[in-house]
Amino acid sequence: MKVPLLDLQAQYRTIKDAVHAAVEEVLESQRFIMGNQVASLEKEIAAFCNVPFAIGVASGTDALLVSLKALGVGAGDAVVTVPYTFFATAGAVSNLGARPLFVDIEPRGYALDPEKLDSFLAKECSVQQSDRKLIHKASGSAVKAVLPVHLFGQCADMEEISGIARRYGLPIIEDACQALGAVYKGKAAGSIGDFGCFSFFPSKNLGGAGDGGMILTSSEKLADRARMLRIHGERDRYYHSVVGFNSRLDEIQAAVLRVKLPHLPEWSEARGRNAEFYTRGIEAAGLSDFATAPTLLPDRTHIFHQYVIRCERRDELQGFLKDREIDTKVYYPVSLHEQDCFLSLGYGRNDFPHSHAASKETLALPVYPELTPEQKQHVVDSIAAFYGNA
Ligand SMILES: *Cc1c(COP(=O)(O)O)cnc(C)c1O
Repeated sequence: MKVPLLDLQAQYRTIKDAVHAAVEEVLESQRFIMGNQVASLEKEIAAFCNVPFAIGVASGTDALLVSLKALGVGAGDAVVTVPYTFFATAGAVSNLGARPLFVDIEPRGYALDPEKLDSFLAKECSVQQSDRKLIHKASGSAVKAVLPVHLFGQCADMEEISGIARRYGLPIIEDACQALGAVYKGKAAGSIGDFGCFSFFPSKNLGGAGDGGMILTSSEKLADRARMLRIHGERDRYYHSVVGFNSRLDEIQAAVLRVKLPHLPEWSEARGRNAEFYTRGIEAAGLSDFATAPTLLPDRTHIFHQYVIRCERRDELQGFLKDREIDTKVYYPVSLHEQDCFLSLGYGRNDFPHSHAASKETLALPVYPELTPEQKQHVVDSIAAFYGNA
């Protein structure tokens, strides 16, 4: 029995007519850039997340780039983030000429560890007397923001992280690219920091028919700046007060996403049920000593963008499942502090033991909404067979 990691065709079959009608409407209008579809999707996502402002951009990566730049991050600056995340989180920082400063994850939720953040800012940074800037002592860079990631669809400890960032006067950008629809203490992922960034990459829980992204903010001033930056820094056509990007969400993407958004809660619930099935199955088969189910942290929901187990003999298990036609994936096999392109930052392999360990021990199982009961059972049975517990 084949179990793909993700089956977008299965989802498409359920909404095909509505998607076609929406795309056709855009084609008939011949309005492709910054029209009603984008404006409407922005309103709908803002309402979905209960924030006043949403700004469509060309990708999740660009959502990060525009947010960072809107907060004034540039050459000589630094941004605190985690080394265990998708590359774009740190890549966006680097592409602005700034330095990613890594702080390790908390190993149960795989997100920024607030205690480590606190001690990093206290011990490795200091406030410069002349201008009150927070300086990273080893590099001399000015620390400008904290960039936590809600990895796999569950929020970081935002209350603690926000409290620490506030004490140091640092704004927060949430990388919520994997967490649209997740809730933390009654607040939507992406609505808590100064900016929240989403991706509509096709494999995300809300995926377009290509690249797309969205920025959330509760600040009118920041929203205004982000809106300018996505169109070359112009407010009035051909008048540029800052240098921006060409990073707009296009109308066809927005039209497709508007068809899909109303389904997102039901899709997330189906992911949640699949996750529960696996977690119960892993426990019932007595596998918990070899393969640990994801930890559900208190006061928040998990939308299971990925269902990630932590397991012994990970690569062998992956190969075994592959032979049984079960696709799995390693997110992410190399922690960012160990990537060739970041070697110049001077980190050692052992600097972030939890990130390193996660990169060696985690495996994502298929958890997409349309999985059948038989497929899920096949996954659990196959893991049991691998560990000799069938
Ligand atoms: C997907 C993702 C991004 C980037 O989104 P794109 O739309 O692919 O540019 C950034 N951060 C995280 C954590 C992601 O999962």
